[in-house]
Amino acid sequence: MHGISRRHIVAGAAAATAGTVFAPRAMSPAMAAAPAAGKQAPGYYRYKVGSIEVTVVTDGVNRFKFADDHVTNRSRSEVNAALAAAYLEQDFMTTPYNPVVVNTGAKLVVIDTGTSEANFERSKGAAGQFQANLKAAGIDRNAVDTVVISHFHGDHINGLLAPDNRLAFPNAEILVPAGEWKYFMDDGEMSRAPAGRMQEVFKNLRRVFDALGRKVTPYEAGKEVAPGITAVATPGHTPGHMSHIVASGSDKVYVQADVTHVPWLFARHPDWHAFYDQDGKLAEETRRKVYDMLVADRMMVQGFHYAFPCLAYVEKTATGYREIAVPWSPVI
Ligand SMILES: [Zn+2]
Repeated sequence: MHGISRRHIVAGAAAATAGTVFAPRAMSPAMAAAPAAGKQAPGYYRYKVGSIEVTVVTDGVNRFKFADDHVTNRSRSEVNAALAAAYLEQDFMTTPYNPVVVNTGAKLVVIDTGTSEANFERSKGAAGQFQANLKAAGIDRNAVDTVVISHFHGDHINGLLAPDNRLAFPNAEILVPAGEWKYFMDDGEMSRAPAGRMQEVFKNLRRVFDALGRKVTPYEAGKEVAPGITAVATPGHTPGHMSHIVASGSDKVYVQADVTHVPWLFARHPDWHAFYDQDGKLAEETRRKVYDMLVADRMMVQGFHYAFPCLAYVEKTATGYREIAVPWSPVI
């Protein structure tokens, strides 16, 4: 009945009897044409790991036509077949970016920072949403104690800077993987890196860290970067790439960063090497090791490039692994 109550009908019938013309709006507001909202809701999602509160805060997505050698050891048609199997558009990559905020009770910690606010306009609002969504989630950037970086690709570090090139988290200590810092800040490594994309990676991270006066604290694997957050070495995607296990009581989540890129390609086919895996073979070894552990331990994974809110369990399949999304919960 679309919101027309019996009372309205009776009232309408009585009025009609009395010869009054009723506009539908007067009968029921629900009958008016509602304007389309035309924009997405803020993207954040909360859950608990023991007594720790985790908030996944999306930075948005990037969508681009992929190159023939996007997956270096597979043909474009094989990649398209995998996209079709995941009910996704052919010839296009849609890459989500999803930093997380961990409130340990004692510390407010951001893990990775997205593509930066400056990217919001450039991407016509599709990405660069991290700060706006943080605000919508009620998280004050000034209250962040620590920013933990997983690796030095732009989609993970560019959000360290506000559009005016100042620190996006003014009161935070910036923790970076020691191996990543050693390798990428080495001018010799930069001079030996291939022209094109790799040179751009080196240049971009210098742009970001130089704007910060190179004021960072390198951290090692096996150490707690904050209470309840332990760094794990997961090299291959980059030389010093780190993941993080958030643990409290018997609860755990594995914050994997880029152990796999989008799971519908690289978890389902762990032997596929993306061009942005700096050492494809090592990245694959790491991927298999981590995912076998996630399956064996039935541990949740939080994937930076998973579909929002990027929280899943993993099962083994004939070709690799498959992510099973954790259902949305209305309470935490
Ligand atoms: Zn990434």
